[in-house]
Amino acid sequence: MKLNLDDTFNIELPADPVMENTRRQVFEACFSYVKPRKPSATQYIHASQEMAKALGIKSKDLDSKAFLDIFSGNEVMEDSNPYAMCYGGHQFGHWAGQLGDGRAINLGEVVHDNNRWALQLKGAGETPYSRTADGLAVLRSSIREYLCSEAMYHLGVPTTRALSLMLTGDQVLRDMLYNGNAAYEKGAVVCRVAPSFLRFGNYEIFAARQDHKNLKVLVDYTIKHFFSHLGEPSKEVYLKFFQKVTDRTLDMIIHWQRVGFVHGVMNTDNMSILGLTIDYGPYGWLEGFDFGWTPNTTDKQHKRYRYGNQPNIGLWNLYQLANALYPLIEATEPLETILNSYKSNFEVKSLEMMRSKLGLIDTDKDDKKLIAALEDLLLASETDMTIFFRNLSRLKKDNSENGLKLVHDAFYNPTEISDSLRQQWTLWLESYTERLQKESLSDDERQAKMNSVNPKYVLRNYMAQLAIDDADKGDYKLIDELFNMLKNPYDEQPEYEKWFAKRPEWARHKVGCSMLSCSS
Ligand code: AMP
Ligand code: MG
Repeated sequence: MKLNLDDTFNIELPADPVMENTRRQVFEACFSYVKPRKPSATQYIHASQEMAKALGIKSKDLDSKAFLDIFSGNEVMEDSNPYAMCYGGHQFGHWAGQLGDGRAINLGEVVHDNNRWALQLKGAGETPYSRTADGLAVLRSSIREYLCSEAMYHLGVPTTRALSLMLTGDQVLRDMLYNGNAAYEKGAVVCRVAPSFLRFGNYEIFAARQDHKNLKVLVDYTIKHFFSHLGEPSKEVYLKFFQKVTDRTLDMIIHWQRVGFVHGVMNTDNMSILGLTIDYGPYGWLEGFDFGWTPNTTDKQHKRYRYGNQPNIGLWNLYQLANALYPLIEATEPLETILNSYKSNFEVKSLEMMRSKLGLIDTDKDDKKLIAALEDLLLASETDMTIFFRNLSRLKKDNSENGLKLVHDAFYNPTEISDSLRQQWTLWLESYTERLQKESLSDDERQAKMNSVNPKYVLRNYMAQLAIDDADKGDYKLIDELFNMLKNPYDEQPEYEKWFAKRPEWARHKVGCSMLSCSS
């Protein structure tokens, strides 16, 4: 197995001259060289054939010793000079100083089929940025990242991806809920893949340290490799760059809202400069539609990163990026104009997205009202978001009565629905069918369109947990089953119908299903 390594990040950008793997503040550098830790007894769990192909790795190599060694951190590839990136970030609204790749080690960049991919091992040991932690990842969180990043990709959501999932054979101590109940868990390593892992925090750290020279070096590098169509670096091009990042961030968050994904930790160190979903930690999927929901117990009090607040936080994070880029632009007004465009574009795109979920193609002045009324009802009656929208596509425009049955199947407590709520649903379904009658699409055409934006299968929180429970016992079949099913989330796939079901009651308050923490 030979990968076509062709590094730019660690070739073109300034390196930390210190070569020891000691925790420290790193100045005037974008990264530090560091080798992955030797795992004690590696074991292959899963790999993505599709991702492997994109990287030029043959199927037959996936079960080779070389593949296991390289992607568990046991061996370093010839020509690879692994490193950890230096970045900072705003965590939960406050500047946190230097963070960096505390448990991610970049292996390098691979060029294949004219695409450039950066490869990174998550959980491969400590780095200069590990601060007080161990640089490791547990199997539980590695399965969650591995399955979810690929699921998001197939849902059409911009995201980092995953190549492989390996056990390290090491035990990792974790206090899952920060309540003094630490326990040993199996250690694992995921190989993540993306065109770049650059985050807002990579730029913020230089700005915070007033290192404008290296800030410019990094921004120019980013434009050269990922936004070259914008032209040669200049103040004007920096603004265009910021506009692109703003647009992509908004686009990504609109996708999250569409599929009901809650990231859980939208700190600026977890915001990709390419607008990719990155750092799958205490994320979760909406089951009952609820703007106030967050899966992250660390954020339980303020719910800063709740579902309904994700678009606002995206903007807040872009303000931090704007501040970081300011020294290169030296004008606030054009930056503010771009930030304001986020707000107005959000209104337009969010409405467009909701209209597409309802199968509304033509525009109508009352659509906003129709959508707001629906959101109120979804909230009032604990309604499964995925099942609701998928079932709604089966409605016939001349038969609103059938709608109540379809909606009913998505309620978590159908017997507790009051008569008045039932009445409101009936009225809403009537106005929706009236609205559909103004559309030119036939029922079948509308259904096909709706089913292409409303997934049938998402990685429900309890599904990942079932795969984790089995994997803890050494059984990886469910990982494989979910991985395969989630490749086609919009298809009916009758063989997987059992996964098109509401969250079982046992999972409502179970750790790992509805309660997750940053500790992984
Ligand atoms: P996160 O909230 O998971 O994105 O992590 C925030 C920061 O903490 C990043 O700098 C991570 O690299 C670091 N970090 C998280 N978990 C660990 C760990 N187990 N060991 C070292 N650093 C970690
Ligand atoms: Mg992070």
